[in-house]
Amino acid sequence: MDLGIRGRRAMVTGASRGLGRGCAEALAAEGVDLVIAARGREPLEETAAAIRARHGVAVTAVIADVTTDAGRAALREAAGELDILVTNAGGPPPGRWEDFGPEALQRALEASMLAPIALMRDHLPGMIARGWGRVVNITSSAVVAPTRALGLSTAARMGLTGWVANTAREVAGQGVTINNLLPGSHETDRIRRLDQDAAEREGLTPEAVRARALARIPAGRYGDPAAFGAVCAFLCSEQAGYIVGQNILVDGGAVARTL
Ligand code: NAD
Repeated sequence: MDLGIRGRRAMVTGASRGLGRGCAEALAAEGVDLVIAARGREPLEETAAAIRARHGVAVTAVIADVTTDAGRAALREAAGELDILVTNAGGPPPGRWEDFGPEALQRALEASMLAPIALMRDHLPGMIARGWGRVVNITSSAVVAPTRALGLSTAARMGLTGWVANTAREVAGQGVTINNLLPGSHETDRIRRLDQDAAEREGLTPEAVRARALARIPAGRYGDPAAFGAVCAFLCSEQAGYIVGQNILVDGGAVARTL
C-alpha cells in the first residue's frame, strides 16, 4: 500500500536506536525526509548515514536533549515546516514507589510528558496553518496496565495521555491527527536493561527473566522495532486521517482486555 506521504517532512526524536529508529526507518522507506534527534552524536550520525544510504531521503541529524529548552530550540531551528512529528525519548528508570523522590518524578515528567507536549506546541501551529499534520507519541503499554517496576512510567505518561485526549479532538478538524502508540516489550536496549535490572533485583539470570516475560506474552516473543515503526508510519499516512486521539497497543497481546 502506498501511504501517500512521499516527499513529506518528519521529525523523530530519540531516533538513534530502538523504537524511534524503527519509526524513522519506516518513514524513510515511504520517501519521507527526516530530521532525527538524540543526545549522543556518534550513534545518531551512524543512524542518519545508514538511513540516507538505504532509502535515499534527506536526513538531518540534530544532537539535542528534548527535555531542555536549548535542545528544543535546536530542533525548532532544524525542523522547518514539519508535516509529521514522532515524539520519543528514553523511558523512566524502574523501581518501587519509595525509590522515587521529587527529582526523579520531575525528570520523568520532563521526558515523558512535558517534552512531547512542548514539541507538539512548537509544531501544531504550522501543521494547522497548512491544513495537514500527523503526530505520533511513543508512550507505553504501562499507560493502560500497571507493569512491574514501571510505576514512574505510568504516572508520567498518564499526563501526556490526558493532554492528547483533549488536544487531538481540538485539532482534528484542521487536518491534523494526534495518536499515541503504546509498545509492549520490544527487542531494544531498553528492554535488555530492564531484564538485567530485574535479574539483579530478584537474584535470577537475565535469561530466566526473559523466559518468564515471554511466557506472559501471548505472541510468545518480544516485538520487532522495525514492525513497530511500520505501524507508526501507517498512523502517519494519508489513509490514517480518520484515526484521532487513539492509544494503540503494540504488545503481542500482553495486556489482557476486551476493549
Ligand atoms: P532506547 O533506550 O533503546 O532508545 C531511546 C532513544 O531515545 C535513543 O535513541 C536515545 O539516545 C534517545 N533519547 C533518550 N533520552 C533522550 C532525550 N532526553 N532527548 C533526546 N533523545 C533521547 O528505548 P526504546 O526501547 O527504543 O524505547 C523508546 C520509548 O518507548 C521509551 O520511552 C521506552 O520507555 C518506551 N517503551 C519501550 C518499550 C520496549 O520494550 N522497548 C516498552 C514500553 C515502552
